[in-house]
Amino acid sequence: MKEQLEQIKLKAIAEIHDSQSSLEEIRIKYLGKKGQLTAILRGMGSLSAEERPVIGAIANAVREKIEEALAERMAELKKLNLERTLREEKLDVTYDGACSRCGHIHPITRTMQRMTEIFINMGFTVAEGPEVETVENNFDALNAPADHPSRDLQDTFYITENTLLRTQTSPVQIRAMREMKPPIRIISPGRVYRSDVADASHSPMFHQLEGLVIDKGITMGDLKGILSLFAKTMFGPETKTRFRPHNFPFTEPSAEVDVSCFVCGGKGCRLCKGEGWMELLGSGMVHPNVLRAGGIDPEVYTGFAFGMGIERAAMVMSGIDDLRLLYENDARLLRQF
Ligand SMILES: [Zn+2]
Repeated sequence: MKEQLEQIKLKAIAEIHDSQSSLEEIRIKYLGKKGQLTAILRGMGSLSAEERPVIGAIANAVREKIEEALAERMAELKKLNLERTLREEKLDVTYDGACSRCGHIHPITRTMQRMTEIFINMGFTVAEGPEVETVENNFDALNAPADHPSRDLQDTFYITENTLLRTQTSPVQIRAMREMKPPIRIISPGRVYRSDVADASHSPMFHQLEGLVIDKGITMGDLKGILSLFAKTMFGPETKTRFRPHNFPFTEPSAEVDVSCFVCGGKGCRLCKGEGWMELLGSGMVHPNVLRAGGIDPEVYTGFAFGMGIERAAMVMSGIDDLRLLYENDARLLRQF
């Protein structure tokens, strides 16, 4: 029996040492209720009273040895596993990634995002409208005369007699006035469509950013203040603004706004074509008829609106002189910005 115990010990320890994972199986095989060591201890009844404590002591020692070996191997396997994980899953942060040429935001999108951000910081919220608009929202409600040339089939993409691809972002003003109550302070960036042949300065699709402020006591002074601050934030703190009288059907009075050239500071250079100024946007005090069309009483409220082309600003800021380049998606050009 002594030899049997010794053999069990040696066999169990050898198995434990070779084991890669199934230690629990080995434990059950030797130490479990139906295990080999347990079976021997059960047979101890046939031993003499002198032998019993001796064999009992040996059996206990064997059990301890096996348990010890199991614990040791368990710790060893744990360590080996950890080492393997560390070796196999190590992340080399100095490794040059496979994406050697990552993309970036298109100049038009970036310009639009920058403009939007500036107005949001001034407390404006972004309003959006559909690109397929009603003729009513796009022209009638904006006080466009029935014979206004932009209504012509040659200038505008009509879907039906009463719907069209919006020619400006201004219909969002009408939607905002009808949905919101003053005070209103929104901007609306988006795509607009005109039936133009693509050339260096025209495209049948382009982007605008529209702004609208309506409240009690809004004046032309607010318009000038907001737009001057916008120009300084967008083009640099030295930027000057110039307001020139103009005529738009939806505003009265109306003004076109120029900014001093941010390259030459107003002296005149190639970018500003020697003028020292660059045309930025159209603006004015919202016409009472437009306020009425939006359901707002012009006797109580006043407001101003402005609209600017995103492409023009994007071109000026990136020094591109042909609008078509922005839409050709030639990576050689786009990578430069
Ligand atoms: Zn200049």
